[in-house]
Amino acid sequence: MHFVVVDSHPPPDESCAPMYNPPGCWGDSVMRKLPILGLALLVAVSLKAQDEDYSKVQIKVTKVAGNVYMLEGAGGNIAASVGADGIVIVDDQYAPLAEKIQAALKGVTDKPIRFIINTHYHGDHTGGNAYFQKQAPVIAHDNVRKRLEEGIIAGNLGSLTHEQKPQPKDALPILTFDHDVTVHLNGEDIRALHFPSGHTDGDSIIFFPKSNVVHMGDDFVRYGFPFIDLAAGGSVEGMVAAMEEVLPKLPADVKVIPGHGAISNVDDVREYAKMLKETSAVVAKGIQQGKTLDQLKQEKVLEPWKKWNNEFVTSDIFIETLYNDQTGKKDGKLLKHN
Ligand SMILES: [Zn+2]
Repeated sequence: MHFVVVDSHPPPDESCAPMYNPPGCWGDSVMRKLPILGLALLVAVSLKAQDEDYSKVQIKVTKVAGNVYMLEGAGGNIAASVGADGIVIVDDQYAPLAEKIQAALKGVTDKPIRFIINTHYHGDHTGGNAYFQKQAPVIAHDNVRKRLEEGIIAGNLGSLTHEQKPQPKDALPILTFDHDVTVHLNGEDIRALHFPSGHTDGDSIIFFPKSNVVHMGDDFVRYGFPFIDLAAGGSVEGMVAAMEEVLPKLPADVKVIPGHGAISNVDDVREYAKMLKETSAVVAKGIQQGKTLDQLKQEKVLEPWKKWNNEFVTSDIFIETLYNDQTGKKDGKLLKHN
């Protein structure tokens, strides 16, 4: 049996791979199990974000459009609305990067942070909450607070699992909402709209209508097949539904900030939604025909979509995700989603 250590750092040049594995990808401790030697020999690899070297991470600031900037470091993309009233940020990456993020924002404006919005609970999007909440309130969907407070073994109910520990009180969003909320600052109606059961059960997509920018959280990512946190109430159906509801709302020339990866456009979102639907249908057909998960993997049913394969969510892991999602089963046991 081979033991494979997965380097979760992204390639230095993002253009060398449209799909890459974001570091630590969704939290402070990642367990990965990889099929080795073509057999179902599974090896768990634990990557602790605390052990990762954040000292070399630099925060890159890009003006997206209007008064919205994107900040990239490690973890999920940050959006920042910057204007006369101050700063509203969407997501805050990892705790060890908080001071660097703050310094990067200082390079844009001296104005204070007014609000932080979380797109979902994963640690690579909420790690800076405790730091930033000393300056301004964190806003998120009710389920983000719940997940952060309780902790969870996240994952695809199969070989991809991740433990997110309960977070201290100061890291919990102090303002929560159940459907949507709008922050009226910087001449913009910044709207966080909840989409149930996509990447998780607490996702929000954030619209900056005046600047013509949208931050999709991890409902839309550029590293390939997406991670769908079935354990936290995510589902591919919900993810597709979110895309189909959002797409008609978006102007053709909107700038799309994905949860991970480069600034995108509506065509990228359309292609992604199409892939989700098609791959889902293929796996659904297989299930209807009575095929097992192993059969679907052996038949490489996602071969036509192999360009979406990535280190983090391989074709096999995505087959497993779709299979577990559609059967609602794990080891023969029915699981209840939220
Ligand atoms: Zn995530």
